[in-house]
Amino acid sequence: MRSWVSHWGRQVGALLFPVAQCVSCSRPSLGLLCPPCKESAPKKEPICPRCAEILDREGCPACAVEPIPLEKTVALGRHEGAWSRVARRFKETSPWIAPLLAELLVEHLENEEFSAVEAVPMWPERRRERGYNPPALLAKEISRLKGWPFRGRLLRARPTPPQRGLSREERRANLKGAFVCAEGPELFGARILLLDDVMTTGSTLRASSNALLSKGVSSVVAGVVSRD
Ligand SMILES: [Zn+2]
Ligand SMILES: [Zn+2]
Repeated sequence: MRSWVSHWGRQVGALLFPVAQCVSCSRPSLGLLCPPCKESAPKKEPICPRCAEILDREGCPACAVEPIPLEKTVALGRHEGAWSRVARRFKETSPWIAPLLAELLVEHLENEEFSAVEAVPMWPERRRERGYNPPALLAKEISRLKGWPFRGRLLRARPTPPQRGLSREERRANLKGAFVCAEGPELFGARILLLDDVMTTGSTLRASSNALLSKGVSSVVAGVVSRD
């Protein structure tokens, strides 16, 4: 109950004062990040358009091992410093940041068209613990801003232990059959925008995208807050 009260308190606060504090360091700020935090953002480096990994001399180290089934990945920032704190706050405690992040993603997707948006699904138990589902919040906001429908076709078939600390093979085994996509007439031949909060190895997005592609979707673009 208390968390709901503070949740709505923050929402009302966010409506009255769109952003009064830096989301990273809590200093007064008119934007999502205060000027010092903004300046501390990592320099732009050449990244892989498909998975947003930083390129090395040979190209994308991640896609060289196994290309991810995404047309491209749009990440708002790298999972470092101030931006990683923004992403963590959004993911763990602060659903009210969703509209601001959704607006930034829409700016990054200017001139793009999608048949629908989807979100990496969360196991219902975890959603209850957290009180909200961060990727679904982004999907709802973007759907509202752009009119692309969000029908929540992607579902978790079973809970999965946290992926952190697992090898690539272990991650894959952990996620095998974990995501399913319901049938939907809008999916056939569709270009889908798939939302997630933090992209780490991409195994969750890979499994979610494969579930969509198995239902006739023709391409999937990932939109993420932060790329680890
Ligand atoms: Zn700051
Ligand atoms: Zn790549």
